[in-house]
Amino acid sequence: MHELSLCERLLDLLQEESRRHAFRRVTRIRLAVGQFACVDPDALRFAFDVVRRDTLADGAAVEIDQPPGLVWCEDCGCERRVPERLAPCPACGGLRLSPRGGDELTLVELEVA
Ligand SMILES: [Zn+2]
Repeated sequence: MHELSLCERLLDLLQEESRRHAFRRVTRIRLAVGQFACVDPDALRFAFDVVRRDTLADGAAVEIDQPPGLVWCEDCGCERRVPERLAPCPACGGLRLSPRGGDELTLVELEVA
């Protein structure tokens, strides 16, 4: 289950931040998990609940945003939302697309005490 290793990395990151910015507790975390990031937000939440027990993030509220998959269509010269990574442009059916988002897995916001 790779969500678990992701959560361990997230916790490492939080601990590093807490040393750098001298806080003791995390009260709120906001993550962005792109539609194509291959991470299940529920599994991520569950894994994080396990990993953070008795750590600085114990009890923190966790919010997960899911940015949609975006591509740039060369034919339309426009950014489009796509339901799947390999789907053609929904407007013109074109295949000359470059990924523009939806793969991200990032820590967006942190509230600390
Ligand atoms: Zn197009």
